[in-house]
Amino acid sequence: MAEKHFKYVILGGGVAAGYAAREFAKHGLIPGELAIISKEAVAPYERPALSKAYLFPQGAARLPGFHVCVGSGGERLLPEWYSEKGIELILSTEIVKADLASRTLTTAAGATITFDILIIATGSTVINLSDFGTPGADANNILYLREIDDADKLVATIQAKKNGKAVIVGGGYIGLELSAVMKINNFDVTMVYPEPWCMPRLFTPDIAAFYEAYYANKGVKIDKGTLVIGFNSDTNGDVTSVKLKDGRVLDADIVIVGVGGRPLTKLFKGQVEEEKGGIKTDAFFQTSVAGVYAVGDVATFPLKLYNETRRVEHVDHARKSAEQAVKAIKASEEGKAIDEYDYLPYFYSRSFDLSWQFYGDNVGETVIFGDNDPASSKPKFGSYWINEGKLLGAFLEGGSLEENKAIAELARLQPAVPDLEQLAKEGLSFASKI
Ligand code: FAD
Repeated sequence: MAEKHFKYVILGGGVAAGYAAREFAKHGLIPGELAIISKEAVAPYERPALSKAYLFPQGAARLPGFHVCVGSGGERLLPEWYSEKGIELILSTEIVKADLASRTLTTAAGATITFDILIIATGSTVINLSDFGTPGADANNILYLREIDDADKLVATIQAKKNGKAVIVGGGYIGLELSAVMKINNFDVTMVYPEPWCMPRLFTPDIAAFYEAYYANKGVKIDKGTLVIGFNSDTNGDVTSVKLKDGRVLDADIVIVGVGGRPLTKLFKGQVEEEKGGIKTDAFFQTSVAGVYAVGDVATFPLKLYNETRRVEHVDHARKSAEQAVKAIKASEEGKAIDEYDYLPYFYSRSFDLSWQFYGDNVGETVIFGDNDPASSKPKFGSYWINEGKLLGAFLEGGSLEENKAIAELARLQPAVPDLEQLAKEGLSFASKI
């Protein structure tokens, strides 16, 4: 079988891969030095678009509109950009074996690719209800969303089941974004999740109450505090209903499951150190194996600001960790040093006319401020997290660019908060004072 060698290989063709390629190009690349290997059939793109504009009934986003690096305001990296730079895109190619000792990757077709330096950017895969043995979970039209192929399947099913009933399993950001977009597609939507409120990993009950009421006003039904325990299907194998633990059965033409992800580290088991479910790296994203880096969703890295290690499954970190790894690779080639990664956690989500951002750490006591009336024409509210007298986290719905910048600055600076009541009164103006 064919064998190829590259100085640099990026394994994975998602968000981090695209931003790493751009950083390599900034430093100057010799054609043929860099390859990106991806099991997807398309060049790297901004994955968050898949649960948002990609699914709109009108004016839907389509490639090449959202190839990287459009999400961070840079020049969009079209497939031609890679060929102009002499970067080889090895697409529709799954790597099934990685041997770090011999620096060799093996494709599903049996070809081998060797490298001097590897960047692991394999991202995450979805947790499938069949993994839990949920009866009937392999019925047709029970869908998941991670890659563009999944999104295309979803678009085709939306067309086939026009104005039908959709059940969304999971109350995280995927569940919330997909419920909204299915409603916009004129489906009768029910969300089901076992927790007492949506997005419990980030939202406080106060924040969640706003989104749940806003969704209810839009006609989305919410069944919380109950589990999906199985599915019924017809003689074609198409899902017809969802069975809940509380005994109820919900009719469904389409079910979309968003119950979390799992980092794709399997190829490297036993070859690199792991921590907290990811591949352990230093502040330059180098793993325990010299010359092998891990970035994006798969990396467990030192989060300097909080003096602990973390794995972060969000797009901003995928971009920045990729850039940091490439800067570190190039610096070490030139015998130079760069600063350690100093990341401020940042997440965002958008659905209906809503848009929120969160910066920092969601630990400690919370205060809520602003207009969180779900019936308002333009709600704008936020929340701060205060731990040991310091403001650590800031959330804002409906903020302007400047206001979002101001809350980011707050989370970075961690100002002292002597009086929570006063802070709640000041709300957003507290951020502009800093
Ligand atoms: P990915 O972008 O997932 O890329 C991994 C790539 O590796 C894929 O192309 C995959 O096919 C490839 N790959 C994996 N294994 C192999 C293999 N063995 N061989 C070859 N190729 C392989 N984050 C936010 O902050 N805000 C959002 O609004 C948001 N929305 C999202 C919406 C959706 C639908 C999804 C799925 C994620 C969303 N995220 C969001 C999370 C964000 O997209 C991820 O954190 C980010 O994509 C991680 O980048 P990555 O490069 O590490 O992985």
